[in-house]
Amino acid sequence: MATTTSSKARTVKAPQVKDQPLFINGRFVDSVSGKTFPAINPANGEVLCQVAEGDAADIDLAVKAARAALETGPWNRMDAADRGRLLYKLADLVEKNSEELAALESLNCGKTINDSRGDLQGVVNTLRYYAGWADKIEGRTVPVRGNFLSYTLRQPIGVVGQIIPWNFPLLMLAWKWGPALACGNTVVMKPAEQTPLTAMRMAELVMEAGFPNGVINLVPGYGETAGAALVRHPDVDKIAFTGHVDTAKLIQKSAADTLKRCTFELGGKSPNVIFADCDMEQAVAGAFHAIYFHGGQCCTAGSRLFVEEKIRQEFVERLAERSKQRKLGDPLSTETEQGPQVSQEQLDKILGYVKLGEKEGARLITGGQRWGNKGYYVEPTIFDNVKDEMAIARDEIFGPVVSVLPFKTMEEVVDRANRTYYGLAAAIWTKDIDKAHNYARQVKAGTVWVNCYHVVDTTTPFGGFKMSGQGRENGEAALEHYTEMKTVTIKLN
Ligand code: ADP
Repeated sequence: MATTTSSKARTVKAPQVKDQPLFINGRFVDSVSGKTFPAINPANGEVLCQVAEGDAADIDLAVKAARAALETGPWNRMDAADRGRLLYKLADLVEKNSEELAALESLNCGKTINDSRGDLQGVVNTLRYYAGWADKIEGRTVPVRGNFLSYTLRQPIGVVGQIIPWNFPLLMLAWKWGPALACGNTVVMKPAEQTPLTAMRMAELVMEAGFPNGVINLVPGYGETAGAALVRHPDVDKIAFTGHVDTAKLIQKSAADTLKRCTFELGGKSPNVIFADCDMEQAVAGAFHAIYFHGGQCCTAGSRLFVEEKIRQEFVERLAERSKQRKLGDPLSTETEQGPQVSQEQLDKILGYVKLGEKEGARLITGGQRWGNKGYYVEPTIFDNVKDEMAIARDEIFGPVVSVLPFKTMEEVVDRANRTYYGLAAAIWTKDIDKAHNYARQVKAGTVWVNCYHVVDTTTPFGGFKMSGQGRENGEAALEHYTEMKTVTIKLN
């Protein structure tokens, strides 16, 4: 899968792709059923290759391998520091192959090569960050009553099932592998059916890094089959899921039968609040980035843009001006600012919301159409005069569509910002430090940005209030969700 970049052409060569197997117990194998499904290039709708389609039987084999690796393999006897060294090694290999991985990510997922390169840096950072944690996960001694010594141990939860989406395929993989492996768990991962290719390339790097067989297993396939089988499986101890809120509800119900631990990172309808006392230039650029980054296919997208009434007209004009100039095109070109949406299904869904917005009486300022006649591109789209109760202001569209909602006071905007069942992220643009802190305290969201947007670092906890999630990823906080706490009490004579 060699890739080369010509600095003059500024277009990265599309990597060669080949049909992909499953990765179970350190081996690349066909699915038990022999079935495959196509991986698609969203920039033109063409089939890139066939991928082995995992189902319940394959999940069962992967879980058995993960269980054996957990309980009998070298993994459970390995020093924590050595687990860390394996993660560092994997990070080094990702860094070494990052150009190839970035190109493959862009090819299969449609994100621009610049964004993919950014994601790859995030992957390396995440793996290194958790590599460092591996030998720092400590228990405590506890001053209990009586002549006893009590201490706690933090042990792996066990076999962890991880289900990830298509919008940040490699970054989501790293967010899940990093803490799981640092804590000594073993993993069965199901990548999204739309974007399995980079995960399968990672399997080769896992082998090269020297992870013992069965510690990491990858079973691509569909959610209703492979994903559901992983959630149901009685020998899986925990599910970590990123995806749609409706899928999380199904997962939680199914996981209840075996009382699995579950962590969820779900959607959002994040309020991005612009006060008249902001730095207008920065706030326009920030609102633009907030909604259009990766074509709006981010759970944190700033899709509810609250603009203080007295600057609304100028703000919307400036935002529209920029939106019209956004360069859509080949994701592999460094000059492209926005690639295609990931699939025909997403394209149809987004255009359906645009129609609904117009029908409900919102004013379409710019965009609203499919771009070109090949691939799944959508023009950057702005709706003004949006009312809180309209579908475009309530539902997660997951596309480059922003709703402008005017407001007058802080009290009003906090109340309206919180009137959603989501609570993933929020932002405020102001030069007034009191306003910034008051908003940060009152808004119900797991992440709040002041005069910036989409700043996510592996060191800080990330997750949702309300129906945007359960638990936290990144930072020290994630470790809690990958360990069981054990109390040991010894009678002293
Ligand atoms: P999106 O709308 O972003 O595709 P989904 O929640 O449908 O979000 O998909 C995210 C991940 O969840 C994908 O890997 C998908 O295959 C998986 N998935 C979908 N349905 C289920 C299910 N019923 N059980 C387990 N996993 C599922």
